[in-house]
Amino acid sequence: MALGSRAAGKHRGSSRLSRKTAGYAGIAALATTGVVGSLAAPAFAADNGISNSAQDNALGAVVVAEDLAGDLQDQADSQQRAAEHAAAKAQAEADAKQRAAEAKRAAEAQAKAEREAAERAAREEERKRLNTFVAPVDGSYVSTQYHAGGGMWSSGSHTGIDFHAASGTTVHAVGAGTVVEAGWGGAYGNNVVIKHNDGTYTQYGHMNSLNVSVGDQVTPGQQIGLSGSTGNSSGPHLHFEARTGSQYGSDIDPLAYLRSHGVSV
Ligand SMILES: [Zn+2]
Repeated sequence: MALGSRAAGKHRGSSRLSRKTAGYAGIAALATTGVVGSLAAPAFAADNGISNSAQDNALGAVVVAEDLAGDLQDQADSQQRAAEHAAAKAQAEADAKQRAAEAKRAAEAQAKAEREAAERAAREEERKRLNTFVAPVDGSYVSTQYHAGGGMWSSGSHTGIDFHAASGTTVHAVGAGTVVEAGWGGAYGNNVVIKHNDGTYTQYGHMNSLNVSVGDQVTPGQQIGLSGSTGNSSGPHLHFEARTGSQYGSDIDPLAYLRSHGVSV
């Protein structure tokens, strides 16, 4: 008989859908007996004179079994594709997550670098500011020169310079430093002496009032008092001295001192 060719021919030539519809009744039986057993059975039956109808039924079951195998293969392929798709999606998500984490780290590193740069710039700015010197009185001029002669000065000549200043004018520390004297200074009246960071001293005399005390740290331009005419003074002005040491007599040219510190006077 032509079981093999018939089965193959029928399978190839017929509609899968119609055979599926017709053959599903046999699937349960196939599931328990298995395809090989079903193939063997009709061959044996044919040799023993079993009817064509029985053979057809058996062949139908074989076709259904092949369809089922095909369906299972399709399903397996579909599941494989779904699994591959899911794996690709998971990988893409993991990649995106890693890229996001890397971007976040980069952004944080950049923010930190910018913060540190800003802090460095601020420190540098502050360092510059503290090293800056200013005039002791804004918009003033020198009314009596250094070493000007005359009977007014106990040393025989002027140990500082006088800045023109109406009574009550703000007096500034010319640079950063520490207040080493603040109070009555005899001929200097109310006076302040500041020791600067470079070891030099400046003195401010004849003031009406003082805003600082001994030990205070002052910054360039900080108000230390108001000008006046206290002590041995011919009238309101600011007496300003620069010294290399704390003692009277170590005075140096105040204008040259201020100019050497970058002050335009
Ligand atoms: Zn003076």
